[in-house]
Amino acid sequence: MAELSQITPIEYLKGVGPQKADVLKKELLIFTIGDLLTHYPFRYIDRTQFHKIRQLHSDMLSAQVMGRLISLQEVGEKRARRIIGQFKDETGVVELVWFQSLTWLKKSLQVGAVYIIYGKPTEFNGSISITHPEMELYQSQEKKTGNLSMQPVYSSTEKLKKFNLDSKGIQKLVQTAFETVFRTIPETLPDYLMQKHQLISYPNALLTIHFPKNEQQLKDAIRRLKFEELFFIQLRLLNNKQLNTKKYKGHIFKQVGEKFNHFYSQKLPFPLTNAQKRVVKEIRIDCQTGAQMNRLVQGDVGSGKTVVALMSMLLAIDNGFQACMMAPTEILARQHYLGITSLLGEDFCNIKLLTGSTGAKARKVIHQELEDGRLDILIGTHALIEDKVIFKNIGFVVIDEQHRFGVEQRAKLWRKNTIPPHMLVMTATPIPRTLAMTMYGDLDISVIDELPAGRKPIKTIHFFENQRLRVFGFMREEIAKGRQVYIVYPLIKESEKMDLLYLEAGLEGLLREFPLPNYKISIVHGKMPVKDKDFEMQRFVKGETQIMVATTVIEVGVNVPNASVMVIENAERFGLSQLHQLRGRVGRGAEQSFCILMSGQKLSKEGRTRLETMVRTNDGFEIAEVDLELRGPGDLSGTQQSGVLDMKIADLAKDQSILIETRESVIAIFKEDAELSMERNNILRNFLHRSTPAISWDKIS
Ligand code: ADP
Ligand code: MG
Repeated sequence: MAELSQITPIEYLKGVGPQKADVLKKELLIFTIGDLLTHYPFRYIDRTQFHKIRQLHSDMLSAQVMGRLISLQEVGEKRARRIIGQFKDETGVVELVWFQSLTWLKKSLQVGAVYIIYGKPTEFNGSISITHPEMELYQSQEKKTGNLSMQPVYSSTEKLKKFNLDSKGIQKLVQTAFETVFRTIPETLPDYLMQKHQLISYPNALLTIHFPKNEQQLKDAIRRLKFEELFFIQLRLLNNKQLNTKKYKGHIFKQVGEKFNHFYSQKLPFPLTNAQKRVVKEIRIDCQTGAQMNRLVQGDVGSGKTVVALMSMLLAIDNGFQACMMAPTEILARQHYLGITSLLGEDFCNIKLLTGSTGAKARKVIHQELEDGRLDILIGTHALIEDKVIFKNIGFVVIDEQHRFGVEQRAKLWRKNTIPPHMLVMTATPIPRTLAMTMYGDLDISVIDELPAGRKPIKTIHFFENQRLRVFGFMREEIAKGRQVYIVYPLIKESEKMDLLYLEAGLEGLLREFPLPNYKISIVHGKMPVKDKDFEMQRFVKGETQIMVATTVIEVGVNVPNASVMVIENAERFGLSQLHQLRGRVGRGAEQSFCILMSGQKLSKEGRTRLETMVRTNDGFEIAEVDLELRGPGDLSGTQQSGVLDMKIADLAKDQSILIETRESVIAIFKEDAELSMERNNILRNFLHRSTPAISWDKIS
């Protein structure tokens, strides 16, 4: 869309002018003629199929009627205020009802005029009416474009309608735009790709999506435009990836040395899963290429990412480098520290923990040891990224739960050496493949898709509030067996007080059921000082308390193998990935574990789907797919910052196969012609020259 005619400001289009241009910009973000042409219809209506009023029935999904508006009347007070219209054809009269935009409607609707109306017939008190119908003034001599059985319908707004830019008005503009610029709309893909992927031309696809002749044509147009959108995203991402590899030299880890081998053969208390082995190998190979590694490890909760990270860090040490590992919370950082030091044993290497609560004295020692190179591994929270933290020679950085960190924070670690360290980012929030390929399309991705052997799948059960006594009974049984229980309350974003209230109310009931001295309860919530949180957490970890009551602070990474029951209160208030994360806190030991989802009786459709999905499956990737379908990509955790997900027509939840096709296509192109210097790739090279880089790992430099 770079051709002059299409970047022409919208006010220059015949019939627009400054005022209309202004609302188009404000309401629909249409600034240029090109923007208008990519304001696609959201549906099509059949202008050849009309119903008679006598035929209308509440079972119909929609109906289109031609008739005359014979009266308009405002009735009711305040919130019940509405406008009722009588609409008539030769077979009868139907009532039209509006609750909104009343002032505007009274002004614009013309009693006595012939309209084509479209809407859903509903039945009320035995008679049929249509609420908020689309109204279009009928003009018999009007010029129609395309097929009357597939007329485009465009989204519009009340403001736009005031400027005669309802769906019909927009359609007219689109028509004018095509009349003026159609000949200059360029093809964007090389011929050979269009043939290979059986795509229609770009100008035709654009024209057809607005004015299709039939279903098949429309399908072809949509496919071409989706391909277009996804292809150029992949072209940019993979181009970035390619540039990064060239631009950033990486440290070379020549050898698999003594520490790595010693750990693997002497200290590792369990055999690695095949998936873990594969990922360690992928990392090892990456670190030998001479290019800087940027790798994302996706693995479900409990899949054993920590040990993969540890072995990678040992590899760095074996090659004379320092390594660090950053976690989003103090609890988690400490747990990594304790877990790793106990795995390695004393004197294996010099590991220290640095968090916000590290004292001044200890901090000084850490800074000193980092700078003179005595410290091998530094584990910590974002305290690691402070400017004062200077490494002698950092070669490997691990970021756990990467979605908790911003791009800026990652960037700071990247800059801690003249040659940037290899970066391993880990996430326990599995994301669907399509999303990973788009969000992290310029990273290498490893997947740990296997859980350690011998784990019993967690049993998930959904209980309603009135079954609470059974749940208490069950908790008692488990505690009697020596197990521990988590109870998690939702964090209410809108009101920080609310979540405490929930927690306190729940706690009261709980204390009645589980009285001291037989039961001890730890409490952790977001409002507590870090010190108290840690103290409570540690009591639970050590087994001094049997029940851990918490808001979601325990969500990330906490590992207490003896805890076998996770009770989630108001489970319907949690998102799917959060529920899955929470469930992952149990099932870490040898015992059968349970996840109990408590909810109120009344559930929204989406809430029900979430709970049913949790009960049905333990597979984080499957859950992520459902989440994507329910919420769309924009809302999934970690995706907010990435602009590449603003798509006009492609849908990551539905267009997986086209996405894969485009990605493979781009990979093949770069494989054959990395610089895009072949004549037939000219058009692609020009595109990259013109475009600003997509979100990119590169930007963290
Ligand atoms: P996550 O991927 O969620 O970060 P962790 O790395 O915390 O998972 O591992 C979860 C638990 O599984 C830890 O107690 C860890 O020691 C153990 N673990 C990791 N890998 C294996 C394995 N291959 N076999 C048995 N247990 C393992
Ligand atoms: Mg972890």
